[in-house]
Amino acid sequence: MDKEKLNEKIVQSLCREYQAVWIVNLDEYSAKVFVSNSEIVIPVNICKGSAFSSYKATLDWYTDNYVAEHDRERVKEIASSEVVCEKLSVSDSYSVEYKRIFNGKDNYNQMVFSRIDDTDKMERIMIGFRDIDGIKRAERDPLTNVYTRPAFFRKAQELIANNPDKQFDLMISDIVDFKEINEIYGSAIGDSILKWSGEFLSSAMTDDVIVGRFGGDQFVVICSHEHMKFITLDDNAEAFVNQMKESGLPKINVKYGIYENVKPTSSIMSVCDKAHVALNSIKHQYGKTSAYYDDNFRRDIEIHRRIESSMRQALEEKQFMVYYQPKHKASTGELVGAEALIRWIHPKHGIMRPDQFIEVFEKNGFIKEIDYYVWERTCQNIQRWNEMGLKTVPVSVNASKLTFEQENLVENLRSCAERYNVPPDKLHIEITETMTVYDQEDLIYKLNEIHNIGYKIELDDFGSGYSSISLLTLIPLDIVKLDRTFMKQFGNPEKTKVLSACIKLVKELNYKTVSEDVERQDQLNTHKNLGVDTIQGYYFSEPIPEDKFEEYMKKYL
Ligand code: C2E
Ligand code: CA
Ligand code: CA
Repeated sequence: MDKEKLNEKIVQSLCREYQAVWIVNLDEYSAKVFVSNSEIVIPVNICKGSAFSSYKATLDWYTDNYVAEHDRERVKEIASSEVVCEKLSVSDSYSVEYKRIFNGKDNYNQMVFSRIDDTDKMERIMIGFRDIDGIKRAERDPLTNVYTRPAFFRKAQELIANNPDKQFDLMISDIVDFKEINEIYGSAIGDSILKWSGEFLSSAMTDDVIVGRFGGDQFVVICSHEHMKFITLDDNAEAFVNQMKESGLPKINVKYGIYENVKPTSSIMSVCDKAHVALNSIKHQYGKTSAYYDDNFRRDIEIHRRIESSMRQALEEKQFMVYYQPKHKASTGELVGAEALIRWIHPKHGIMRPDQFIEVFEKNGFIKEIDYYVWERTCQNIQRWNEMGLKTVPVSVNASKLTFEQENLVENLRSCAERYNVPPDKLHIEITETMTVYDQEDLIYKLNEIHNIGYKIELDDFGSGYSSISLLTLIPLDIVKLDRTFMKQFGNPEKTKVLSACIKLVKELNYKTVSEDVERQDQLNTHKNLGVDTIQGYYFSEPIPEDKFEEYMKKYL
């Protein structure tokens, strides 16, 4: 069959699938252009004829006039006759996607390259143009223009499967305190931050760099190891934040969790989970911006799993014990109280401190049972000490956020105390500021009820990164415990000024103050001089088991 006729026939059928088709003769590098819908690709009258007889000239003309600027060079390169020959020598077809500008509007388009001759020698190829705007837009997150989560999973999975010899890393980013940014600046500014970030990230997208919106204020990126090293350089992260600030948006901080060396057969979803684990591990660590998922995490997950599988049995077998740490009056040194602190007396690992398991319990909800267990055990002890005729001091019990969210919290607390005849003035409740982040109204309501029964309320860790001064007047309070960071940075003159101001403020509001972690005489003196009422720390005593505390009370009361 005559070549021209063949062309016509092929083109007719191709034109059903594509908005335009070019047939390129690779021998002469000339292009013949067929257009099925002049609106969508090339106006036929312009590109037919001698001016565009060369493929390169046709391609340049098309890209310069119709391809969005940021895609232009990439399209020219991928569609160049050299790359076309190279790619089609190993596969029957391939494609490139780009933004096409037409009448001031940009649409996603795709060029599909394929061989049309069956012969070994590649003489002619076909380039089909198609509008993929509908499909692409459904894949893109409308606010940020990066891939939606499912589209990201699909694209990333394809990327690693198609490039088994390349090393890819995956990163999830998170904007620090985005919720607060929304509250302070309004959600329109919050949206602008996300939009700006999305545009910044999507402009970096190539065939090997895929960006998606993981959810909320979190983005996910997969790219080569070298490229990831580059984007996560401190300088680059800073440049990103500064550029955003220069465009008039508030300053933000970003944290990253990174999973390196994604295996071609890995499930992207589980890789994301791991990058997320790394990210979460630094969520509350001030000043730490990135974390890599590594063997430590694997070990942590294993420990996490072991804790979860043994915690219920441990509670039944009474492996949890309540220790008491004495609190002394700063001015006189007399014993005035104690804090109940949980310990896990593990049959294999010995005495475990809360930092080894409390976080797991807070995540899986078991903390509610632990808090209740500590209350009940403490009430039992107080009853026993009373019946022995011992003089006792009020004991403070810790309550977590989840415990406070329980509907019947106040009733449980009251009925527990009543069951063991514990008068309300013998129990204090310690709450932390972090629990006030959620449903403040409900929290204030419950705290008022608790306060009205007669229990004293202590605010723990005041002066830490998350302190809000307004909170001091919002919730019913009796005692404020100063955060341990004051003690960690003991001797730092600036910190001492802040500490002194905190103490003055708290006193002004008529609350008592407690300093924790006081280990030495000089620390005690300083805090005493600053006007702190109560001291808790190794200087007086570490937390001790209940029988030892019983002896302690006998000795000091
Ligand atoms: P927290 O409430 O701030 O408790 C004070 C922590 O400081 C205790 O750690 C105590 O052992 C430690 N500490 C006391 N004096 C000193 C000192 O002089 N130097 C130093 N370096 N540390 C001192 P612990 O017992 O490991 O408890 C850690 C955290 O676990 C507690 O911090 C509290 O947030 C949580 N926790 C403990 N028991 C419970 C509980 O029953 N329920 C809940 N929800 N949380 C608990
Ligand atoms: Ca506490
Ligand atoms: Ca504390």
